[in-house]
Amino acid sequence: MNLTKVRTGVYICHCGTNIAATVDVKAVAEFAQSLDGVVLARDYSYMCSDPGQDLIKDDIQEHGLNRIVVASCSPLMHEITFRRACEEAGLNPFYFQMANIREHCSWVIDDMVLATAKAKSLVEAAVRRVYHHQPLDMREVEMNPSVLVVGAGITGIEAALRLADANKKVHLVEREPSIGGHMAQLYKTFPTLDCAA
Ligand code: SF4
Repeated sequence: MNLTKVRTGVYICHCGTNIAATVDVKAVAEFAQSLDGVVLARDYSYMCSDPGQDLIKDDIQEHGLNRIVVASCSPLMHEITFRRACEEAGLNPFYFQMANIREHCSWVIDDMVLATAKAKSLVEAAVRRVYHHQPLDMREVEMNPSVLVVGAGITGIEAALRLADANKKVHLVEREPSIGGHMAQLYKTFPTLDCAA
């Protein structure tokens, strides 16, 4: 159970017109402001820019925020950026949650009413989720980079060869006496009539 009072900051990114042309970002920010645990909600033109990140950092310091939600692009693009911003402001970076309202919303929905409704749902889900986040520490552990591939059919063989090309040590195991799987049982393959084996 979390004994610290949750104080969430929500940031809705315009991404220029990438999001703002299809999603009513002000309406989403207003909606976010009404959610449980949310202390402030803002919209801003480019959240990943330095001024955008500074907005988050300053709010963490000034308003004692302990959860951050950014509604913008895919986490693949900027999750690390925003986690780092949280960390630089003294907040555990895992108290951060991203909602993808660009690739999952503005880029795939033309209707502003529908896109805004979906953006609100995605933001609400992120706010609810971050509420339950726990602080985590990064650790480095020793690992064995060798790979075990189970099954030496065509897929297994191909996977093993690609891994070996990437300089991994590969253990390829097969329960049958020979490799090749179903492919090895065929006579010829369509359409080239190559010998399957
Ligand atoms: S955070 Fe993502 S959505 Fe926002 S401006 Fe940067 S790239 Fe665009």
